[in-house]
Amino acid sequence: MAGDDLQMLEGTVARVNSAIIELGIRDDMRDVIIEPWRELTTSLPVLMDDGTVKVFKGYRSQHNAARGPFKGGIRFHPAADLSHTRALAMLMTFKSALVNIPFGGAKGGVQVDPNQLSERELIALTRRYTRSINHVLGVSRDIPAPDLGTNSQTMAWIMDEYSAIHGYTPGIVTGKPVELGGSEGRSEAPGRGAAIVSRMAAQDLEIGGESPTVIVQGYGQVGSSAARKFVEDGARVVAVSDVAGGLYNSKGLDIPELDRLLSEGGRLSESRDGEQVSNDELLGLQADVLVPAAIEDVITTDNASDIKARLVVEGANQPVTVGADAILADRGVTVVPDILANAGGVVVSYFEWAQNIQQFKWKLERVNDELESIMETAYRATYKHSQQHGTRMRAAAFNIAVGRVMRAIDLRGFLK
Ligand code: GLU
Repeated sequence: MAGDDLQMLEGTVARVNSAIIELGIRDDMRDVIIEPWRELTTSLPVLMDDGTVKVFKGYRSQHNAARGPFKGGIRFHPAADLSHTRALAMLMTFKSALVNIPFGGAKGGVQVDPNQLSERELIALTRRYTRSINHVLGVSRDIPAPDLGTNSQTMAWIMDEYSAIHGYTPGIVTGKPVELGGSEGRSEAPGRGAAIVSRMAAQDLEIGGESPTVIVQGYGQVGSSAARKFVEDGARVVAVSDVAGGLYNSKGLDIPELDRLLSEGGRLSESRDGEQVSNDELLGLQADVLVPAAIEDVITTDNASDIKARLVVEGANQPVTVGADAILADRGVTVVPDILANAGGVVVSYFEWAQNIQQFKWKLERVNDELESIMETAYRATYKHSQQHGTRMRAAAFNIAVGRVMRAIDLRGFLK
């Protein structure tokens, strides 16, 4: 990897470490905060449609539960391995702490490209994975959710498999289909949350006036719902992309029209609403705000100097590397970090979990109002901390979050 771009896990640890130092936390407490409490690696044999057996690798990293049960998504992706899963689990701990919801952090991973499997193979793999980790899950122990490569349907299969072992347990996963106890507004939540904090940061930094221009890299679940919320709030989404490439229209793309095209099975590249650009070009386009909403390590020391946006809002987990962070800061670009920007997902997961426990359903309006209020509070606290201490938003966010986790460890008397 180029320059001082660290591997995913090293990057996450570096950020947590800085907070530990900044907060003056005792050196011998470092591993208590950084090391995962429990991890599981499993082999998952699946009978494939062609009659052969294929063994997949599965992981669940339970990083820390000082503030509440482990919580975090399950990723089906070819790059999912233990260290990757561990990094993402660690991010979840501090994400939940920053938005002040009563969860710890965890992450699951299965090393697979879900697009290469038939539906039957995917169900078999999901069931096998659930069976392999069911003993470390629980409504007050560890509650999975969707992440890259998984969705509400995957959560329904997990809930079904877990319930076959333990009895009907809707609260075992969040991000379920609404018909099965999922929360209204859950699928849109990470994107909405990212757009909410973007709006607040743009106002504070006086970027873009009434109608800032926005680039959304990655038009998946997070990116597309962010784009819809941006438009709802009066911003102009000038460029979006998927793995194949991007679409650019300096006047602003017609997002409802694009959604219609995609819902009818069309592709981004078929849209005539703007000019086609490559993924590399997209990142360097002229706009006020850039939202990398796809995957980690997208903005690196190689391309950080090309970014023209003054505000980068991390819709994905860790899309900006540690090395790129420093370059962006030098160039006066503000980064709203992942543990704040994409926390909307786990916030509405918290609402879903609470609704399941109470067997009481909230209306969409209530979900969105409460989401907005939690995101605003977390944003305000982070921005204020960064102003008061003269730090970047990321350092402020980690300082607040690590401090809260440390406080919980102290209060629970772990070491007494
Ligand atoms: N996978 C999402 C994230 O990275 C959501 C996790 C959850 O809702 O538990 O934040």
